[in-house]
Amino acid sequence: MKLFRIRGGVHPEERKVLSAEHPIRDIPLPDVLHVPLHQHVGTPAQPVVERGDLVKKGQQLAKDDGVVSAPVHAPTSGKVIGIGMFAAPHPSGLPVRTITLKPDGLDEWAELPPPIDDPFAAPPEEIARRVAESGIVGMGGATFPSAIKLNLRERCDLHTLVINGAECEPYLTCDDRLMREFSEQVIDGARVMAHALGVGRIIFGVERNKPGALDALRKAARPFPEVKVAGLPTRYPMGSEKHMVQALTGRETPSRGLTADIGIVVHNVATAFAAYEAVRHGRPLISRVVTVSGGAIRHPANLRVPVGTSVRALLDHCGGFTEKPTRLLIGGPMMGQPLPSADVPVVKGMNGLLALTRREAPDAMAMPCVRCGTCVDICPCGLVPLDMMAHVRRDDISAALKIGLGECMSCGSCSYVCPSHIPLVQYFNHAKGRMKVMAADEQRAEGSKALAAKRAERLERELRAKKEMLARRKAESAKKKRAAKPPPETMAAPPKAAAATPSPPETEPPKTDPTMPLANAESRTAPMPETAPAAPIGDAAIAADEAPTGAVEVEPLAGVTVSVDDPSGPALATDAALLRTLQEKALEKRRQLDGASAQPEASNVHPAETGKGGKDDR
Ligand code: SF4
Ligand code: SF4
Repeated sequence: MKLFRIRGGVHPEERKVLSAEHPIRDIPLPDVLHVPLHQHVGTPAQPVVERGDLVKKGQQLAKDDGVVSAPVHAPTSGKVIGIGMFAAPHPSGLPVRTITLKPDGLDEWAELPPPIDDPFAAPPEEIARRVAESGIVGMGGATFPSAIKLNLRERCDLHTLVINGAECEPYLTCDDRLMREFSEQVIDGARVMAHALGVGRIIFGVERNKPGALDALRKAARPFPEVKVAGLPTRYPMGSEKHMVQALTGRETPSRGLTADIGIVVHNVATAFAAYEAVRHGRPLISRVVTVSGGAIRHPANLRVPVGTSVRALLDHCGGFTEKPTRLLIGGPMMGQPLPSADVPVVKGMNGLLALTRREAPDAMAMPCVRCGTCVDICPCGLVPLDMMAHVRRDDISAALKIGLGECMSCGSCSYVCPSHIPLVQYFNHAKGRMKVMAADEQRAEGSKALAAKRAERLERELRAKKEMLARRKAESAKKKRAAKPPPETMAAPPKAAAATPSPPETEPPKTDPTMPLANAESRTAPMPETAPAAPIGDAAIAADEAPTGAVEVEPLAGVTVSVDDPSGPALATDAALLRTLQEKALEKRRQLDGASAQPEASNVHPAETGKGGKDDR
């Protein structure tokens, strides 16, 4: 099969010999299992059991939550003795939600879903569903829920399935052993996945440093012409999805794109084995093969370990340490994560547990960069690690992003070759962690903004409703008042209307308040100019609205309105005496006009003011 060159890469000392010839063996059931609910990329699973429940092997403990999630199953039968926070196998050592199970020693299986006898006749969706229900995730370390990848047929034009058996990290041999010991099952699992994807071509990519695995796979694949097994050059990081696809097909995956964008889906060999178990036997993913190795391990081994087993139990099973390790890692030495403690559980994505001595992992002091350019030459992604490091050191992450930090796959090749022992990949991992925190902060801030806007909107809505309610009440109350008022004929006619239509002289003068000689309160308080011009007198229809601005209108008696032009404006005082004179003159004029007798029947001037007695004068 024709192969293609990949850019960069390194060839670190393999040290696979420590465990490569140790067949896979089961580890005895531990006293207690801590099963984390977040063993995959995406949302943690949600428990479906409670403390005190008795469960059987393979029974679902927690269901998947959302599109990107995976369920978790009981690795053995026993009793749920706790659901709470427990340390996770992560450099931070931070706890995650975990179900603690006390095995009963019976290892009794639950009722499993029936095997799919002829998976190649089953609809692809059924295979993907079975893989999802079995909690299968990418077992090469990525831990992405595998069913999502199997459903890519719905949105991508797929043609090839690549099974990744490169296992390019030094020390690790778990995939090698799986391919050698379970080659037929792995081939069958790959064919079932290819059926689910709807592709007609399967390529196994295995580094040439695993001749046993290559032979076993080629033999198992012989009856299936659609399956090809390719021996790849031993070069780290050949196990990277994009680089393996390039080496096998010569096609480059677009930057920030998926291999599915060029029609190719990649799964790990251990994932293919898990798919076989799920489809052919109905067994969920409850255990995995882990390589326990390193110079400090007394008896390196490849162990089939129930998920949730303590790392300490693995170390004990392998005879403990020959010397105190300087580094305890999960995964390989290039991309592995340091473990803060051995009291963490094995999870679905853990392929190796390494205890390295000082000779294997010396603590070299970082020196200044000599700008040798070696890191640039070997970077498989074509990046300039020394420049990215300089930006990250200055805390200028956006500048590092501009020159490709987002493309860095943290393979560690640059750190491995740096003659100054600069931990370049640690800078990049730190920066990526900062980016995640910043993105989370930004998302939180956006969320708070949205909440504040919603609150303001709600308050405004409530205020508007309140105002409308008050207006409604006011209108109702005004309506009620109007309804309660006496009919219009019983009401006194407005003064102006009376003035406009002079009424016949009344037989009795209106009663007036002696303390209020003039009816208009305004006229009492308003100042009057000393030399107010004489107003036209003579008719009651001397219209007030014809008066210029500032006119002081006096309506002392019904039927008589006197307007005094006030050029100084309404602020001038009114002289009450002058007004009375004017009113008297107006009455006199009216009498003359009406031809009334010289003796008035009633005076418009209050008797109290004239000093003469009147009807009200008692
Ligand atoms: S390999 Fe190290 S010393 Fe050389 S350029 Fe890169 S960072 Fe600098
Ligand atoms: S860690 Fe990143 S920068 Fe360094 S070699 Fe790998 S991909 Fe390149």
